[in-house]
Amino acid sequence: MARNQFLFEKSKMVIPGGVNSPVRAFGSVGGTPLFFERGKGATVWDSEGKAFVDYICSWGALVLGHANEKVVDAIIQAARTGSSFGAPTEAEFELAEIIVKTFNSIEQIRLVNSGTEATMSAVRLARGFTKRPKIIKFEGCYHGHVDSLLVKAGSGALTFGQPDSDGVPLGATADTLVLSYGNFEELENAFDRHGDDIAGVIIEPIAGNMNLIKPPENFLQFLRNLCDKFGSLLIFDEVMTGFRVGLQGVQGLMGVSPDLTALGKVIGGGLPMGAFGGRSDIMQKIAPAGPVYQAGTLSGNPIAVAAGLATLRQVVEPGFFDAISSFTEKLTKEIEKSGAKYNVDICAQAIGSMFGFYFAKSVPQNFSEAIALDKQKFRIFFHEMLAQGVYFAPSPFESGFTSISHGTKELSKTSKALDSAIHKVSSTV
Ligand SMILES: *Cc1c(COP(=O)(O)O)cnc(C)c1O
Repeated sequence: MARNQFLFEKSKMVIPGGVNSPVRAFGSVGGTPLFFERGKGATVWDSEGKAFVDYICSWGALVLGHANEKVVDAIIQAARTGSSFGAPTEAEFELAEIIVKTFNSIEQIRLVNSGTEATMSAVRLARGFTKRPKIIKFEGCYHGHVDSLLVKAGSGALTFGQPDSDGVPLGATADTLVLSYGNFEELENAFDRHGDDIAGVIIEPIAGNMNLIKPPENFLQFLRNLCDKFGSLLIFDEVMTGFRVGLQGVQGLMGVSPDLTALGKVIGGGLPMGAFGGRSDIMQKIAPAGPVYQAGTLSGNPIAVAAGLATLRQVVEPGFFDAISSFTEKLTKEIEKSGAKYNVDICAQAIGSMFGFYFAKSVPQNFSEAIALDKQKFRIFFHEMLAQGVYFAPSPFESGFTSISHGTKELSKTSKALDSAIHKVSSTV
């Protein structure tokens, strides 16, 4: 038995589904997940020694690529000097300061251990600050596995949500209203009907968890205005887009400021970390400054903070996003070029260091268009890319990620693989 298969079978015996997070199991595409042994720059090697160009980059976390020298040195140094104190350290303040200086909307920030914790705490804070119960979220946006956000739309647009997972009680989602991403009218109606009870609205301001989808023009500003009118807080979940689409996340690109921002992924430099921050009058409500409880034994962990700092110090250098965006643009052009060559409907878009590609005539605008993408073509494409040594996300509903280590060599390997994979799609479907 091949080594990946062997490891998967062994893992399945002691780990549910053989993986520690569901998408890793290749459920959408079938086949055996790769077990990785090593990564350097833009390349990863699996347990069978095969090399792949990595376009997942730890689901966005590794914006510098794998095993960046400065990050590795920082981790080693931090490990040598004590891995956890459960007490404040100077580096935490330095990391907080970089983020506060970078994001205009963030005056104070609290470090946590994952994106899930960040959104969960931001929602609790919005409720505590406004003393209101209800939250609006959008279909297709993922905010981690928080009970109140694991919710699907109710039977009508203005009925409250239903749990989207067994184990989430009705009560946990009873105050969450789920609306269609980018639908102005639904949003306005929801505020007209429930505005005085709405604590906040949480949104991926560019959605990266239903493939990569931009909101319609002016949607975020419309949302900002409604939140202001009704005294509700606007929460941007930039766990994925923060330090990815541009230096100041989507809020910098689109010029709309949230009250609270959730961050994660890149800020931990490949170690577990999340954060939430925003206006200081709101953040002052967090314990011990205020009455909204939030805590964590390993929050601000010295090794994670060291990795995050070593990462962000490189990311904030002038020219970083120009370089990474230029690579990502070239990649998406190559994808579209192969589609045109073989007459396959595929389109692509790049936003900073994130990209999406879609087996469709045009880029989808919302969740229902995203789930209508051609899954059969995707499956064939995915497996051929993998066979050619290019590792894309194993699902048509995920974004792609590049790193600053991706360059000419990776692009040329990817182009060759694309030619073969799109040809295969054109001849088998
Ligand atoms: C990844 C992600 C999360 C959850 O972060 P975890 O660290 O996996 O808990 C939340 N929101 C968005 C937008 C994400 O992409």
